[in-house]
Amino acid sequence: MKDEYDVIVIGAGPAGSTAAKFAAEKARVLVVDKHREIGSPKRCGEGLGSRAFEEFEIPVDNRFINREIYGAVIYAPDGSKVEIRYDKVSGYIIERKIFDKFLATEASRKGAKILADAEASLLRENGEIAGVKIVHLGEEKEIRAKIIVAADGVESQIAKQADIDTTINPVDICSCFEYEMSGIEIENPEMIHMFMGNKLAPRGYVWIFPKDDDRANIGIGISGKEKRTAKYYLDRFIKSRPGLEKGSILEVNVGCVPVGGFLRELVRDNLMVVGDAARQVNPIHGGGIQEAMLAGRLAGIKAQKAIDSGNLDILKDYEREWWSSRGRKLERILKVRHFAEKLGDDDMNYLAKVWNGNDLIRISEGEYSVAFKKIIKNPRLLKLLKSFV
Ligand SMILES: Cc1cc2nc3c(=O)[nH]c(=O)nc-3n(C[C@H](O)[C@H](O)[C@H](O)COP(=O)(O)OP(=O)(O)OC[C@H]3O[C@@H](n4cnc5c(N)ncnc54)[C@H](O)[C@@H]3O)c2cc1C
Repeated sequence: MKDEYDVIVIGAGPAGSTAAKFAAEKARVLVVDKHREIGSPKRCGEGLGSRAFEEFEIPVDNRFINREIYGAVIYAPDGSKVEIRYDKVSGYIIERKIFDKFLATEASRKGAKILADAEASLLRENGEIAGVKIVHLGEEKEIRAKIIVAADGVESQIAKQADIDTTINPVDICSCFEYEMSGIEIENPEMIHMFMGNKLAPRGYVWIFPKDDDRANIGIGISGKEKRTAKYYLDRFIKSRPGLEKGSILEVNVGCVPVGGFLRELVRDNLMVVGDAARQVNPIHGGGIQEAMLAGRLAGIKAQKAIDSGNLDILKDYEREWWSSRGRKLERILKVRHFAEKLGDDDMNYLAKVWNGNDLIRISEGEYSVAFKKIIKNPRLLKLLKSFV
């Protein structure tokens, strides 16, 4: 391993591997990840829309695709449901452990060097960010680079080490718990299922993402401020459904999802922050793989250009361009989250009757005007809407 690179990426998740792949077009890139195996352990429901496959030209490869998905069913607390059904594939339940390894392999094929079992911290020289210190297989090493990409996930320490303000309000954190279960009964396993309700999953939802006809990721995300744990709510949900309760547990995942609190400062000197580390996640449904890849690509291209031209000021364009494109959109979606948090169970039951699948798609994309017009006849919801706009 060399002692000097143009770019060091910390974290080989979707954000880091994508950044590395694009940066490696013109730069010497090293990616370090603290885990012994890239992609493992996974903390994910493993849902990924087909748009991400198109955008990043990801092959529909059976090695990391469990099953095709044709839409979503959203359940209100009283059991009424809104169905978003497509006549073609709308997404996939992937196998993250293999998918993340695939993305890292793609980056290595472009010339990036990947190093697992290498935990990194920032290296400073004369106060400047000069590279990373890593511990690889118990051995400490210093590696220098012109540019650092912090892609170290939701528990990121690297941005903080670069003196970026990473404080986050607990209301902008969703705490999650998930089982992968087999031997269960799933109605319509070609769809993903999302269950809403303040008693069921306060300020969040329960998901069933089928990997087979009788195997699924069953998880929950709730407010980080709740007294009871996410596990408590998920176990209660599973117990109330005999078709799930009889199943086996193949895997347990615990983790957090940032659902707001996007980092304002994405670039400090020669360091860029991407993906969950920058809280670039859809705040309504908590999906972050595609956002991580979009941000990773943008940061990777800026790193590539900065190295090619010898002008590190180009990195600041990543922050500007992310905020004027994805950032602006995610801010709009965050407003919807703030509105949704104020809904009581009766409101959700009402909305399940007046909204259709198209309305829900638009809302989750931050385009809410049409859907919101449908609720102005409900005085309580109208009042709520006024307080929120
Ligand atoms: C329970 C749960 C379910 C989810 N379900 C979905 C879903 O269905 N669909 C979806 O799109 N999103 C989902 N998400 C969100 C999604 O998993 C993340 O948004 C996505 O993984 C972000 O990618 P990333 O590359 O930014 O970070 P990560 O995938 O977290 O990768 C960060 C990497 O950095 C490494 N790292 C951390 N610190 C260091 C260090 N100091 N040195 C070296 N390496 C380091 C870690 O080992 C890790 O590999 C879910 C999240 C959770 C918790």
